[in-house]
Amino acid sequence: MGEPRTREHTHLCDRCGERMEEIQCKIVCPRCGYTRDCSDP
Ligand SMILES: [Zn+2]
Repeated sequence: MGEPRTREHTHLCDRCGERMEEIQCKIVCPRCGYTRDCSDP
């Protein structure tokens, strides 16, 4: 709904498939706590 072009900032958790939050240079899953570096290809 009403979200502009932010698809590039959408990361899905490899573990549970939840949408992950990008915080500074880390991507954190709010559901299972899985974290990832945003520079990960
Ligand atoms: Zn997760």
